[in-house]
Amino acid sequence: MNRILIAEDEPRIASFLEKGLKANGFTTSVAADGQEALFRARSGEFDLLVLDIGLPGKDGFSVLRDLRRGGSSIPVVILTARDGVDDTVAGLDGGADDYVTKPFRFEELLARVRVRLRGERAQEETVLSVGDLSLDLRTRRVRVGDRDIELTAREFTLAETLMRHAGQVLSREQLLSHVWGYDYDPGSNVVDVYVGYLRRKFGQGRITTVRGMGYRLESSATELREAR
Ligand code: CA
Repeated sequence: MNRILIAEDEPRIASFLEKGLKANGFTTSVAADGQEALFRARSGEFDLLVLDIGLPGKDGFSVLRDLRRGGSSIPVVILTARDGVDDTVAGLDGGADDYVTKPFRFEELLARVRVRLRGERAQEETVLSVGDLSLDLRTRRVRVGDRDIELTAREFTLAETLMRHAGQVLSREQLLSHVWGYDYDPGSNVVDVYVGYLRRKFGQGRITTVRGMGYRLESSATELREAR
């Protein structure tokens, strides 16, 4: 199990991150200011640091600089405002670190975290397969049987989320926060609309509506037949 330190002073974002990371099997802890983040990141108790730039006490850039000066090689994924991207890129340590701009989708952050944790083992898990569906996370190629399918970026993220949890029911709220991010209106029907798009592209019978609960991608050819 991987342990992730979240350095974020905005409680809403910190709890959004904690919930999502825990749901994906990570152990998390939150530091709400820069000094605490630096202290805890140095403790050796964590495998990765998610670091907000705008932290009270000591900003994210200083935390990162002090960590590296102190010899720590902990992987860092930076959270930055969209208008601070240039500064952030300048602050990255020779490709050892990565960043996500706010507002971000959870899956986007999760992908960065996974890549940073994988390090040298980056060849693993670049192709997700469920039955005859396959999604290449690197080339973005999507296949159903021997057909290539075109997906928009959002459809791709939704498909990826459903495939990572194949056979499990995901609620509209889970899909909304994973695929659309925390800034999305919870009353929106955008999930249903996009599931409709995927059904059209993947073919009927693959994504089941579980009444009152959400959606499930069927995990095997057998279930696929039963669902028809
Ligand atoms: Ca902040």
